[in-house]
Amino acid sequence: MTKNILIKNAPVWTGGKNGKLLKNHSVLIEDDKIKKIAPSKNFRGKFPKTLDASGKVLLPGFINAHMHFYSTFARGLGKAKPSMTFVEILENLWWKLDKRLTKEASYYSAVIPLVNAVRKGTTTLMDHHASPFHITGSLSRIEKAVRETGLRSALCYEVSDRDGKEKTAEGLKENVEFIKYAKAKNDNFIKALFGLHAQFTLSDDTLEKAAAYGKDLASGFHIHCAESNDDQIKCETFSKMRVVERLKKFGILGPKTLLAHCVHVNDGEMELIKESGSAVVHNPQSNANNAVGVANITEMAKKGIPVGLGTDAMTVNMLEELRSALWLQHLKNNPSVGFMETANALMVNNAAIANRYFEKLGEIKEGFFADLVLMDYHPPTPLETENFYGHLIFGISQSEADTTIVNGRILMEGKKLKLGLDEEEISRKSAELAAKVWKEF
Ligand SMILES: [Zn+2]
Repeated sequence: MTKNILIKNAPVWTGGKNGKLLKNHSVLIEDDKIKKIAPSKNFRGKFPKTLDASGKVLLPGFINAHMHFYSTFARGLGKAKPSMTFVEILENLWWKLDKRLTKEASYYSAVIPLVNAVRKGTTTLMDHHASPFHITGSLSRIEKAVRETGLRSALCYEVSDRDGKEKTAEGLKENVEFIKYAKAKNDNFIKALFGLHAQFTLSDDTLEKAAAYGKDLASGFHIHCAESNDDQIKCETFSKMRVVERLKKFGILGPKTLLAHCVHVNDGEMELIKESGSAVVHNPQSNANNAVGVANITEMAKKGIPVGLGTDAMTVNMLEELRSALWLQHLKNNPSVGFMETANALMVNNAAIANRYFEKLGEIKEGFFADLVLMDYHPPTPLETENFYGHLIFGISQSEADTTIVNGRILMEGKKLKLGLDEEEISRKSAELAAKVWKEF
């Protein structure tokens, strides 16, 4: 039996490269896809389910291009020593936390942000996981959380040499196994990338092995790249080359590779990224929080590099991240800089990046998968195609997501979750596990 949902009377932002605002339109969902988009008056007859979108705006579900579900357990953790540098933040907080994550903790720390993502209309997330003392099978625990919440996610395990040879080997294997599994499964909910931490914790030998596996499996890589200048200093000291040059040397770049951050890349490195077809993921709130600098995304965009937007686990609210991206471009340059680059990163490039792994996401278009969000919005000024991004950044970003749909399934309606999960119990269990993790901190 086909399942139809009619969303009627909405202003619809189509998304995509030539995004348009369609007024008084309705969108018909049939099963998992968008069947028809037309003026509301063209839809007659009864539909099994109708959503009235008056007082709202319909958008493609948001995509988060760089996330760490496991960071959930850091929330409220006041025990980490104050850090003066980015490397100290890793040593004092993240590399202590990840070592204490069990498989159960990996599952719970994923469910929490995934449920929150539903609340914020974020429907696809590219995750980067670390749990060095419980590596094997960790990705399938996260997969369970993703499937339970009905969202889409591309998963990877971050290989690093920082915990010794055995952990490196286990990390490589976890990626290989999960990539094979996701390929065989071949659905549009779970994809796999090959995860690497960052070049400064990876030896030549490990990069070589990872590259060989990646090539064999035709997989892209998800890696932190020149997030802080320490990455460049270490690379120049030990390898006598720049970070992007080293990644190129080992065959890590390519059209399926995600380079998170790229705050400290020079012009030559941008050219290499462009040539390779790799995508850059900008994470402005994390960069501000870690005081590592502001990425030159306007120059990257000018060169034709696909620059997407991630949150690096600071939030799952993509509109909050978009605003931060814009403020930081203003602060770095001047208030005329970055408007289109930041808006396009979220609304155009993230979809293009996701579609390197998934199928037909990120646009409200006939034949595309029905991943949609209805945001509350009564525009107080004229709302048109030309000024939509202004409304998005300054107005819609301050509204609530009302309804979230993924693959034609309503996950939240009227701000009520319809996941069939016991949220209170999940939070209770998560807090219990987090307390155990913290005890050993
Ligand atoms: Zn990250």
